[in-house]
Amino acid sequence: MRALVSSSNDDGTQQLYQAAPELIIPALRPYRQRSELTTWTRDESVPGYLESRLRQYRYVAIGEFHVHGAQADAPVVRRVLALARQHGLMLHVHADADTLERFYLHDPSARILWAHAGFEGPARVAALLERHRNLWADLSMRGDIAAEGKLRPDWHSVLIKHPDRFMVGTDTYTPSRWDQVGAHARWARGWLADLPQEVAERIAWRNGEEVLTAAFIAVSNRQSAESGAQPR
Ligand SMILES: [Zn+2]
Repeated sequence: MRALVSSSNDDGTQQLYQAAPELIIPALRPYRQRSELTTWTRDESVPGYLESRLRQYRYVAIGEFHVHGAQADAPVVRRVLALARQHGLMLHVHADADTLERFYLHDPSARILWAHAGFEGPARVAALLERHRNLWADLSMRGDIAAEGKLRPDWHSVLIKHPDRFMVGTDTYTPSRWDQVGAHARWARGWLADLPQEVAERIAWRNGEEVLTAAFIAVSNRQSAESGAQPR
């Protein structure tokens, strides 16, 4: 079992990866500091920054990043999509459903992990999953999917219908949230227990292994072949 991790700036992710390469799957966040969350889509220095990190380190994805509405059409964002395609990377995108659709207009083949399932309701999430085969959703910060330890029936149906498309997540964007990781895991185990064991295992860890770990190994192998170097 592993964790997809990103940070602002990327040094924190690299430190974690160095400390536990068997546990950490790095994603490359376009922010050098968290305040760039609102400005990065019009910051011309972002693609060059990403390229320099991509030359030095290995990642499974670019993200998590925040995009709203027409920001998805900004030249900087389009260049980030192109970089992901060029390097065989996924995108970890914090965006609502309408914004996500703009990504697929620009690149129908984009492989996207949809952060927080876009904070959308279960019907909308299911519709997008059905429309885009290369879309997965993480359920971090989704306290609304369960009440008193039980999955809400509409979410229960969507998870059963698309057992291979969801992953649990925690959103540790600020240090104080690390203290809550244990409680969050207990909460997730509570609602996962409402599902058939096979579905619960998929959402808890198996989908992550099959999608993220497999993609990270593929990216690493590809980079090794290109550089002729040993994995670092
Ligand atoms: Zn987010």
